[in-house]
Amino acid sequence: MADLAAPASSADLAAPASPADLAALVALADDVIGDRADAWDRAGAIPDEVVRKLAARGVLCAQIPARWSGAGLSSADNGELTAFVGSRCSSLRSLMTSQGMAAWTVQRLGDTSQRAAYLPRLAGGELAAVAFSEPAAGSDLAAMDSRIEPDGDRVVVSGEKVWITAACYADLLVVFGRYGDGTAAVVVPASAPGVTVERVPEPMGCRAAGHAHVRLDGVRVPGADVLGGVGQPTTLVITTALSYGRMSVAWGCAGILRCCLAEVSAHARRREQFGRPLGEHQLVARHVAELLAAEQTATRMCAHASHCWDTRSPEVVSATVLAKYVSSRHAAAGAAAAVQVLASAGARDSHPVARAYRDAKLMEIIEGSNEICELILAGHALGTRY
Ligand code: FAD
Repeated sequence: MADLAAPASSADLAAPASPADLAALVALADDVIGDRADAWDRAGAIPDEVVRKLAARGVLCAQIPARWSGAGLSSADNGELTAFVGSRCSSLRSLMTSQGMAAWTVQRLGDTSQRAAYLPRLAGGELAAVAFSEPAAGSDLAAMDSRIEPDGDRVVVSGEKVWITAACYADLLVVFGRYGDGTAAVVVPASAPGVTVERVPEPMGCRAAGHAHVRLDGVRVPGADVLGGVGQPTTLVITTALSYGRMSVAWGCAGILRCCLAEVSAHARRREQFGRPLGEHQLVARHVAELLAAEQTATRMCAHASHCWDTRSPEVVSATVLAKYVSSRHAAAGAAAAVQVLASAGARDSHPVARAYRDAKLMEIIEGSNEICELILAGHALGTRY
């Protein structure tokens, strides 16, 4: 597969972060999340000051290189940070995915002045969401109908986007649409006249991730905010953003599995039935073993994909699709097994395994559903392109 997700130039490669950088960001996230994830999930929102604090410290898009004021983490270190946040709060991890995807789209598709204009803002606390999906264009993004049309030195953006993660928090929307004969992405302020953001009611999971439907009615922005120039091939534009999103979701799923493994292990040691701890019953022990294997498999798939990213390997696109596919399947199955082992103890919405169960299922749908990932992987194996 083509190296669509590689940085624009070697100068854009993130310098390897020192372990202290990663440890400091993990400690900050740990401190800020604390035991608040359940309350955020119930409220359907993370307090604005919490999100702003993490954004201002660069936690939400820690892969932005230092020369644009980012934390400059490698993909591997950003992955571990993402897994940590994902193990505690998938809603917050979803905001990281959107913010990082927006930053990566600017870094990869933007020109020098667009990078200089937007990346420090994203690293410094402004919040972003990424909008592809439309009512009639879900898996089939080539069917996108939103339009970006030139009008003098401005462009007019019109269309309807659905299920946009983080849109309720966003200052900036990276909107994808038709431009000329191809596709482009354009940066639209969420406060621009003609933008309407309507919260998705009662999402099944990641309930505090600020999903919203977004209407753009003749929104006028400077033509200089179109990323990637006039009408690039749709596959290039979309795959660029999705590659970051898939990597981030894959690491988030490794985090979900870490959470489930820890909860299951503790419960299986503590809870006794038939005169023995649950973990000494072989059928329960099998669940524990399978969760351990799933967590290790997901982590290694993610680490390999991040290694491909950090070394600019041409394998990066397929490795990232594979990591997202394997990790999300394991997370959905592993979270279901965790609820099974905890049984009544985990059968409340507020329990971490119940939240993991709801959150993990959604990971099989987003950033290219698992069926779409299967088509891409089969095309890779068969030497055809999906
Ligand atoms: P459909 O495309 O209608 O698919 C329905 C089912 O058919 C799926 O199982 C799918 O895999 C299957 N299917 C479709 N085509 C094929 C095929 N050719 N072969 C085999 N099976 C197929 N979008 C954004 O732009 N930005 C976001 O931030 C964002 N965040 C999201 C967060 C959540 C929690 C959710 C649920 C969605 C989000 N989305 C976002 C939208 C998401 O990308 C789409 O839901 C996803 O692409 C699937 O599209 P769809 O829901 O329209 O399903």
